[in-house]
Amino acid sequence: MGTKVRFDTVRVAVIGGGINGLGVAWELSRRDYDVTLFEKGRCGAQTSSATTKMIHGGLRYLEHAHMALVRESLRDRAWLLANLPELVKPVEILLPLYADSPRRAFTLRAGLMLYDLLAGRSNIARHMAMSADELTARVPLTADGLRGGFSYWDAQVDDYALARVVMSSAISDGAKVREETRVVSLRRKEKEWIVVTASGEEQRFDLVVNAVGPWMNALLAENRIHSRYILSLVRGSHLVLRSRVADVGMLLQSLSDRRVFFVLPWKGTTLVGTTEVMHRTSLENVQATGEEIDYLIARFNRYLRDPITYDDVASTFAGVRPLVGRALNPSAIGREYRLERRGNLLNIFGGKMTTFRSMAEKVAMRVDNYFGHVRTARPARFLGVKSGSVD
Ligand SMILES: Cc1cc2nc3c(=O)[nH]c(=O)nc-3n(C[C@H](O)[C@H](O)[C@H](O)COP(=O)(O)OP(=O)(O)OC[C@H]3O[C@@H](n4cnc5c(N)ncnc54)[C@H](O)[C@@H]3O)c2cc1C
Repeated sequence: MGTKVRFDTVRVAVIGGGINGLGVAWELSRRDYDVTLFEKGRCGAQTSSATTKMIHGGLRYLEHAHMALVRESLRDRAWLLANLPELVKPVEILLPLYADSPRRAFTLRAGLMLYDLLAGRSNIARHMAMSADELTARVPLTADGLRGGFSYWDAQVDDYALARVVMSSAISDGAKVREETRVVSLRRKEKEWIVVTASGEEQRFDLVVNAVGPWMNALLAENRIHSRYILSLVRGSHLVLRSRVADVGMLLQSLSDRRVFFVLPWKGTTLVGTTEVMHRTSLENVQATGEEIDYLIARFNRYLRDPITYDDVASTFAGVRPLVGRALNPSAIGREYRLERRGNLLNIFGGKMTTFRSMAEKVAMRVDNYFGHVRTARPARFLGVKSGSVD
């Protein structure tokens, strides 16, 4: 007879306290693994708080036929709306169509129909066609060349607040979360991993999950860990305007490069973003460049009646997307995540904020597989939810 493994004695290290690492730590704690999460700074303070704040299926991913990703994201959107209504709120998005818009009405309608279909019964509301007059009555769009458009629904979240709530929930389910603790090396010793922190402390684990987001290439290279995946690092920047231009969101199409970008109501202000630029400098203190700010101001001024200048921009923020694979055009790189398990090491590549929960469940299933026991997770109950309104 084999030795019986006591569930709570299986020690798992999660490296990285962004939404993905926190989601994994929470999921594994609810399955009674003994989880320690290491975060070099504050949990949720990096990529996971520099997003467009959308909990969405990603309408534009349909253009690249990423059906599975959109379906999974829409399922997670519905779950978050139902289980975290204090933080995740439905938002209506208007999609205007101009005479020179790069995508035609037929394409947009087909995409929106598919989006509704993939959301199924948990859809927020079906999309609607709108006339040019209806659009300009609701949002300050320029009427010049406006042919009409559509309205559809997605959801918004305070991303940092979401990460902190997942952190509190993981702690209440037993995870040990160690902020301000950088992992400097991972050493294999027989069947265990030794995790070494910047202060020289060493701890042994039965399994390690690497969830360091954009730092993944560096972590693997520094520890000479071979992987079949490589991340492209693509910066995205946003403007936060001083005033609120509309109470609903807008999805606009840039003419020069066919990219889409959002103008969104955000805590009494307006969020404009984002860009997609290959990031080749340090991952610490990522900032929007002047070129990106000019790009966003120019695109905004193409469509909105009241043009903005630098004076209307209260602040900017930027983050780096960890995208799996390589391409010359950053917009063409898919948003799907990849999980790679090699024995008792599991690497997470990519992953949207929206899908943190589905991804964490898949990670947990692989961890269960490694230890040969399928565990049932305790129900997910968010803890420490304070008002993180997006209005
Ligand atoms: C501009 C932009 C807009 C986006 N918009 C959306 C959106 O609207 N909706 C959506 O669903 N997704 C969006 N995303 C995607 C989403 O934000 C990210 O994919 C997600 O936040 C990645 O989370 P993560 O936990 O993998 O990475 P991170 O949040 O970066 O977390 C990784 C953590 O690892 C820590 N770390 C790194 N090295 C070490 C080490 N050696 N030791 C200890 N800790 C370490 C870092 O400090 C960091 O906190 C957007 C991304 C960007 C960049």
